[in-house]
Amino acid sequence: MTSHREATEPRLSDYDEKNVGIEQIDGLPAPTTSTRPATPRRHFQVARRFILFSLLTFLALNQFTKLLSGGVSSSDTSFYNDQTEVGGYWRGVATKGLRYAVPRFDTANIGGEHHHDHDRHHHGHEHRHLPGHTSIPPKVAEKIFLDVPNNQSVSEALRRYTSYAHPAGSGWDFVSAVNLKNEWEQALGLRSSGPEEHLYDAGSHESQQRIKGGMDKMGVWIDTYYPVMNKPVHASVTLLTDPPFHAKLREDILPGDEDSQLRDEVPVFHGLSVSGDVSGKYVYAGYGRKQDFDLLQEKGIDFTGKIVLVKYGACFRGLKIKAAQEAGAVGVIIFTDPEEDGESTEENGYKPYPEGPARQPSSVQRGSVQFISKYPGDPSTPGEPAYKNATRLEGGNQPSIPSLPMSYEDVIPLLKALEGKGIHAGDLGKDWVGGLGFHGVDYFVGPSEADLHLVNDVNTRVIPIWNTMAVIPGHITDEVVIFGNHRDAWVLGASDPNSGTASQYEIVRGLGALLKKGWKPLRTIVLASWDAEEYGLIGSTEWAEDFGEWLQENAVVYLNMDSSASGSNFHASASPSLANLLKSAAQQVESSLDSSRSVYSTKYDAGSWEAWQLEKAGSLTGDYDVWAAEKGSGVGPLGSGSDFTPFLQRFGIASSDMGYGGGPKDPVYHYHSIYDSFTWQQKYGDVGFHRHTDAAKVMGLVLLRAADSIILPLNTTQYGQDLAYYLEKVEDIAKDSKLESKIDLSSLSKAIDSVRGASTNLDIERHAALEKLRELLPRPGHLKGSFFGNIHSWCNAEAHKDKALASMQVWDDSKEQVEESALVAPPQLPHLPRLPSPGKVKDIKAVLKEIRGINKKLQYFESGFLSEKGIKDREWYRHKGTAPGLWLGYGATTFPALTEAFTIDHDPALAQKEAEELTDLISKMAQRLSA
Ligand SMILES: [Zn+2]
Repeated sequence: MTSHREATEPRLSDYDEKNVGIEQIDGLPAPTTSTRPATPRRHFQVARRFILFSLLTFLALNQFTKLLSGGVSSSDTSFYNDQTEVGGYWRGVATKGLRYAVPRFDTANIGGEHHHDHDRHHHGHEHRHLPGHTSIPPKVAEKIFLDVPNNQSVSEALRRYTSYAHPAGSGWDFVSAVNLKNEWEQALGLRSSGPEEHLYDAGSHESQQRIKGGMDKMGVWIDTYYPVMNKPVHASVTLLTDPPFHAKLREDILPGDEDSQLRDEVPVFHGLSVSGDVSGKYVYAGYGRKQDFDLLQEKGIDFTGKIVLVKYGACFRGLKIKAAQEAGAVGVIIFTDPEEDGESTEENGYKPYPEGPARQPSSVQRGSVQFISKYPGDPSTPGEPAYKNATRLEGGNQPSIPSLPMSYEDVIPLLKALEGKGIHAGDLGKDWVGGLGFHGVDYFVGPSEADLHLVNDVNTRVIPIWNTMAVIPGHITDEVVIFGNHRDAWVLGASDPNSGTASQYEIVRGLGALLKKGWKPLRTIVLASWDAEEYGLIGSTEWAEDFGEWLQENAVVYLNMDSSASGSNFHASASPSLANLLKSAAQQVESSLDSSRSVYSTKYDAGSWEAWQLEKAGSLTGDYDVWAAEKGSGVGPLGSGSDFTPFLQRFGIASSDMGYGGGPKDPVYHYHSIYDSFTWQQKYGDVGFHRHTDAAKVMGLVLLRAADSIILPLNTTQYGQDLAYYLEKVEDIAKDSKLESKIDLSSLSKAIDSVRGASTNLDIERHAALEKLRELLPRPGHLKGSFFGNIHSWCNAEAHKDKALASMQVWDDSKEQVEESALVAPPQLPHLPRLPSPGKVKDIKAVLKEIRGINKKLQYFESGFLSEKGIKDREWYRHKGTAPGLWLGYGATTFPALTEAFTIDHDPALAQKEAEELTDLISKMAQRLSA
């Protein structure tokens, strides 16, 4: 092979930067910009040389390809059609990295046979080769992408998605799934399909094949799952005084927000609540956390037969019901307390929505009361996909007592009726007193004198839901990047989730723009629009349970975006290995509200809830992931409350979540209310829709980098470091619970050290491999002033800028380490690489094999935390590194089983056992990294 090198290489290398001086001879200035007008004389000279060049190149390449097709017969080294495990890598590198070196390396050749092969197996769905599959190196792709998302388009998308109520399983929800399918088809350059086309029942051959055999087929489709859900029928709350007080349980129609007329489309109720008609005395139980019930029981409150009033906040709503039913209560009312609203309150002189940024008094927070920390998804099929004919169980993760949400307007008379009864809330702690003092409420625990009558009538049954899905095939089809957002809303969902759906649409448009230019990602991208997230992460969980094995084999990351904009603070949470990727993308995208600042720098623009809460109440009421944000990467761990949960916590796939949320200085966001409307977004949430766009840009960059970086942008060294913080946290907890002397965490500490050591070595390996690849890839020769440079700029006046960008350094994974750097360096002079010789191709493939090996280690790292047995009392959750806290629900608990052995079981022997399992898991992770 090497003997042929000379024949293919030198002709182009003769014209590298050493041959300066042509410009002086020709009297032509250096071709540094594309805008210079060419003179007729120059045209002539240049054309003459171009013809000569073309002839020479043609001969050289002709020779070269002959040589390859004739001389290289084993499929292992076949130039175009490498079917080995590095085939995809090679095709990716060849198209993205060797553009000039291998001009015939276009779609017709790349993977052509591969595709036809699959055509025979999969029918009924269009897929076509995109025309002009030329190379677009990763950095150029980013630049093209970033030009697409814009405020106008994103606001129009949001308007489309929020002009009707579309809770999961409704007719309008189906319409939204079909509409989105058509929008994505259009954005990705596919034919618009009919409503029944590419609509599959989950579990059907078509649906299964679309994932398991369809990663090389571009397309959009809908999967239908059949979970158990409930729909509201009737509800009432009556205080049996004389005269009785009937709670309104209805949000007001507001003249300033037309969409509020749709309030009755989804009456106020709790998703997955059970029907019940109960009466009894009632008690106020603060936030309704497990510890609040424990405290009140210690103080002699008997909850048997009582209805409990609790305020929203501090933990997931379903867990309040769980704590109440375990304490013996018969019904629960969860009310919105303006104390949770930060500074934009009526008490501080602000007018309520829509006149001002304060809370609308009639607003109600709907929401699921699923026992999310037990397991998410369809209550009737834990661990299994909810197919139409699935075997089902009853109860599962649903409450057994009825509950209703309530506005603060409605709850005032109930709280006032408790005044002077039982314990004064202030005696129990600052966080027992809510924010209705301004409305004359003095909080007391009760019990009440009069009875309360609560009726919750829901219709619970199997209801279909629809996930809209898409595949953008990459050169590599067994490494898949998944990006999901949920589409179902409690009512209109202008923030939750459709700000995210609109941002996702901008990202799909950006990907479409790239595809139109002939781009093909290195890795395959799967896009998901989940349904029924609001009922309990149902669409994503059922899908993940459906394709669990495939996911564990093929998924490299899961990227989530729920709301993209509900306030002015940017936030991100992720697996520690993805933290730097997210952070650097957010640092590189400038805020479109103020171009002197990055998106990342807006983290506390509207203040920090933790700081505000500490100042106000003197302690934190709920989640404690602040430490991780401060000590670690600045990106906290993932708890639950959105669709990353099944991917991360059951299947061990590195995951992330991001968007703009509210801070204490922001206008009040009417979460899960009719007032989460387009008008609210326009007037208060994201005036000008900048944040929707910025979130799309950050998320898009993360997606592109995960898909296009030759080495997966997963940082196990950061993970190792964060594990050390997780351990510190556990040590603190052991100290606080006075159990530190009864437990030995030294082996765990050593295991963490060994992960850090192995990861550092892997970092060295990956950098060496990349260096080798850079050296082997044809090195661009500088064309400045050269013969070819002149031709290049003349022939490609228009495409010049793109091409100049295209020839810049191609593979660069240093970005995750980069703190603050320009996204794309200013366009350089055009470069022209040499042709690789067949011998070099072989060497390149050898390095690619090495890189693939490194990527596999990175990809499977996270799954090292999976424990076969799962976490005690919630075996569905298998990740021993992070889980939603058993009594938190949204918030992350790191080293959950170990932590809760202290905080919940107070059992040092159990803690020791858990520490040993963790030590074992983490030691194995270290071994696999250094294998
Ligand atoms: Zn949501």
